[in-house]
Amino acid sequence: MLPRIGVRGVRESWHDRFADTPDVLKSAWRQQTVVPVLDFEIGGSEFINIAGPCSVETEAQLLATAHSVRRAGARILRGGAFKPRTSPYSFQGLGLDGLKLLGRARRETGLAIVTEVMSETDMDLVAEYADILQIGSRNMENDSLIAAAARAGRPMLLKRGLVATVADLFRAAQIALDNGNPKVILCERGIRTFETATRNTFDAASIALIKQVSHLPVIADPSHATGRRGLVPAAARIGVAAGADGLIVEVHPDPDTAWSDGDQSLNFEEYDAMMSSLAPWIALREEDMRASVAGDLDAAEVA
Ligand code: PEP
Ligand code: MN
Repeated sequence: MLPRIGVRGVRESWHDRFADTPDVLKSAWRQQTVVPVLDFEIGGSEFINIAGPCSVETEAQLLATAHSVRRAGARILRGGAFKPRTSPYSFQGLGLDGLKLLGRARRETGLAIVTEVMSETDMDLVAEYADILQIGSRNMENDSLIAAAARAGRPMLLKRGLVATVADLFRAAQIALDNGNPKVILCERGIRTFETATRNTFDAASIALIKQVSHLPVIADPSHATGRRGLVPAAARIGVAAGADGLIVEVHPDPDTAWSDGDQSLNFEEYDAMMSSLAPWIALREEDMRASVAGDLDAAEVA
């Protein structure tokens, strides 16, 4: 076990830095949380693709997108029925009608559903339709919403806040864990910096950091991280290379007419092309994972 002493030294310093969120960190008995969803897992060996529109708009829009992303390899359909918007006068989501459309897409395609919950009042309703409850960036500091979502019992996709450090994200995750729900999936979706050419600054190093110190799965969101559809495939590749357990990508039948986040949404052909170009990167990641498992087994034999 000699080679591990160095690794342990690094881990100890991270343990000091993130001392107030001990349950989020790796430990001798918990190296990786695997979150079961329908017939697959997030945080396991399979790389999980989540895709769909920013907002649920119409039946035709949602169903066409669901079928298309499923054919391209997505496992989970995303789509907001309750939307946090920059302007109070922008489209705020279809609410219950949007949830019902997500339910229909789920029945037709077999895709799992992730959708945002913005209020404790809507929690039971959203949890009825969602396989995974999304806590959006703007609510990452909303402790009571996170606690309520955790108690709803569904897996949670916890998006990093706009100006949140990794430690802040861990604190939000710790609240979910403290409320008895271990099924927490973290999401790096870019943070605010002085750079304005991209919508946010994609903090890919945070993905590598999270994978190194936390047992929780982490998903990269290249759509919100960049805000520009032309940058999404490159940011997605970076996410895979940084060690993410999956991607969440905005896809729309006609992005230029999207009711929200059209600039960063891919059309079906663009999503198909991105998924094909990602395949070798995802295969490399799977090889890496097999190698690291084999390395652990070798170490165990030496010990
Ligand atoms: C979204 O997923 O559409 C969304 C609003 O994301 P974020 O909370 O990361 O801005
Ligand atoms: Mn969006």
